[in-house]
Amino acid sequence: WKNAPPTLRHLFDLATGFAPRDHLVLDDERATVGQTRAAGIAFARQLIDDGVKPGDRVAIIMRNLPEWPVAFWGAVLAGAIVTPLNAWWTGAELEYGLQDSGSSILIVDIERYERIREHLPKCPDVRKVYVSRAKEEIADPLVTRWESAIGPVSAWGSHGGGDKPTGGEDPFPLRLPDDDVAIFYTSGTTGKPKGAVISHRNIISNMFNAANAQARAFLRRGEAPPAPDPTLPQKSFLLSVPFFHATGCFALMLPAMMGGHKIVLQRRWDVDQALALMEKERVTNFGGVPTIAWQVLEHPRVNDYDLSSVEGVSYGGAPAAPELVNRILARFPKALPGQGWGMTETSATAVSNGAEDYQRKPASTGVASATGELRIVGADGKDLPPGEVGEIYYKGPIVVRGYWNKPDATAETFIDGWIKTGDLGKMDDEGFLYIVDRAKDMLIRGGENIYCVEVENALYDHPAVMDAAVIGRAHKTLGEEPLAVVHLKPGMSATSDELRHHVAQKLAAFKVPVDVIFLPETLPRNANGKIVKTELKKQFA
Ligand code: ATP
Ligand code: MG
Repeated sequence: WKNAPPTLRHLFDLATGFAPRDHLVLDDERATVGQTRAAGIAFARQLIDDGVKPGDRVAIIMRNLPEWPVAFWGAVLAGAIVTPLNAWWTGAELEYGLQDSGSSILIVDIERYERIREHLPKCPDVRKVYVSRAKEEIADPLVTRWESAIGPVSAWGSHGGGDKPTGGEDPFPLRLPDDDVAIFYTSGTTGKPKGAVISHRNIISNMFNAANAQARAFLRRGEAPPAPDPTLPQKSFLLSVPFFHATGCFALMLPAMMGGHKIVLQRRWDVDQALALMEKERVTNFGGVPTIAWQVLEHPRVNDYDLSSVEGVSYGGAPAAPELVNRILARFPKALPGQGWGMTETSATAVSNGAEDYQRKPASTGVASATGELRIVGADGKDLPPGEVGEIYYKGPIVVRGYWNKPDATAETFIDGWIKTGDLGKMDDEGFLYIVDRAKDMLIRGGENIYCVEVENALYDHPAVMDAAVIGRAHKTLGEEPLAVVHLKPGMSATSDELRHHVAQKLAAFKVPVDVIFLPETLPRNANGKIVKTELKKQFA
């Protein structure tokens, strides 16, 4: 290992110096870095005993439990391709994921086991299932209880072997940077989720981009960045996105292991519990999607909590209203807000905006990561000048090699190292990117383009609006017309006419929604916190 080029294994070993630090916290359960590493190593040995060979797919279906990272590390160390499936999927969707990936081993929590068990006969590749948190024995020859292999969280690290894999010959297969290490499924916002095949190099590049985002801002201005501080204290991350999406895993879980930081878990996102945890666990970083930040800021009792530990609030994955950065700074004066744009296919963040740049250009999602390039491409395939809207293309070492089992989609999307993103955007003359819309969400009303995100931002500017989505409704002569679906902040009120008038003051008349539908609850979101417009369209369009 020592002289091999970097892989996730090296990253895992960087954490040995942080063994006594808290790493995973869920309610009363706590595991240190050392315990997590020891459990990961023990599980890797178990998988090798199970006959797992490099390149085999090992699936994880779990909510954000402490077992998730252990299952991940176990599979990585054993040389497998980790295949996390979305814990929100139905039995039939999980069946698709298991069949598509051809996973041979499955690690699942008891609730999701109940959901998948009757589908397992249709997933013949699965030959062993580890079930965690089962209250009683499960009479199924495929099933092993996770705890009988790895023990409950409190016993991690006490099963011998310790947190160093070496004691003589290294027991784990050597992997190289371009080997596949994971299949992560896209969110399925625009169609059936596709498995992005991610290499060690993709993930490591993503992490070093993130660590150097600050340096990138300096380099662009031609200044020398400040030297990093080697004595940085431990951070505490509140995990509000799932481990099974790129952000939760690559932007939070992996840096937390490498840097010996703490991950504070919730079984599912709950803003009341989040505020209490932020105070109790001295959370330094939170975020995920912009709506998480909004829910914290708009909470009626947000000022009752001591949130002085917060140092960073960052988000991406969905459009962020330009006003958000100043709202964060007002509530968390020492916090660095940041936003980014990326896709599963770019191993998380490809473009980011932070520090003074973000205050200067709050509507921009930032500049390409230090190792990447951006293009804005017109319908004729040619690059467009600054200010013009076209499709975003991105190139860099974080771009995955393709989709698992989908040669056609791979050939359409990945062209000469560039990924054709399906997102529309424009760049300014300093290289800052502005996300305009998904190509599939854009509306054409009587020949006029309407970018839903622009209209949504105008709605978000209204003080009563908590959540907003603009969708197209079929119109006989115009083709489509915009319709808004809105959820108001607690205790606030607004009428359809008032909101339409508000938009009309900012945008051209043809962009003003023809009607506003008010929902008593937040808009339907997928596991990653993105509004599921297909559902809204089904219901209202
Ligand atoms: P699918 O590809 O299966 O339809 P998805 O595109 O939602 O689902 P992800 O890979 O999780 O799956 O999300 C990537 C997409 O999220 C981007 O292509 C973009 O449309 C959206 N997105 C990410 N960051 C931002 C951002 N900062 N602003 C606006 N949209 C964003
Ligand atoms: Mg996508």
